[in-house]
Amino acid sequence: MCGIFAYAGGKDAVSVLVDGLSSLEYRGYDSAGVFLPESGAVKSVGAVDNLKKKLAQNSLHGTSGIAHLRWATHGEPTEINAHPHHNNNKDVWVVHNGIIENYKELREALKKQGCNFVSETDTEVIAHLISYNLAKLNDFEKAVTKSLNELKGTYGLAISCAKEPNKINGARMGAPVVLGLGDGQNF
Ligand code: GLU
Repeated sequence: MCGIFAYAGGKDAVSVLVDGLSSLEYRGYDSAGVFLPESGAVKSVGAVDNLKKKLAQNSLHGTSGIAHLRWATHGEPTEINAHPHHNNNKDVWVVHNGIIENYKELREALKKQGCNFVSETDTEVIAHLISYNLAKLNDFEKAVTKSLNELKGTYGLAISCAKEPNKINGARMGAPVVLGLGDGQNF
């Protein structure tokens, strides 16, 4: 288990997210990644410095986003398995610390609903599950809540949805998440 960081506010989210990840590095990790709803995702294997180098070659920008340091439990420490993970349409993105115990059952059920899995992680089911429930409920928060009720295991989560790009949903179960509520910005 390693670290997640998320930001929604008025500042350049890329630098806030990278600073957030740097402050979590002491926990140990094997790969890193960020997603900004306004511009996309960048992931890398190894140190946060590798992520910084890739970000320098990309034009990621925006004022909100989610970020992750991964300590692989399900799937090798590869770029594809690095977080954030997304649904088919790439409009729901998730970073996760912990282990989803019922991911195999969920994965099989979601595959039957047309979900295409690209990684070996347990985490990817969360993005597809939220997306599946979002299509039915048409409400980001309700879709997240319903999905959390279907998960078994431990999680610290930050979730970003294209429908509401300035909102991050956070959740925890058996893992800590700290909320920082600021003036015009939240962490
Ligand atoms: N179980 C997830 C994975 O293997 C999350 C690992 C973590 O907590 O960093 O991708």
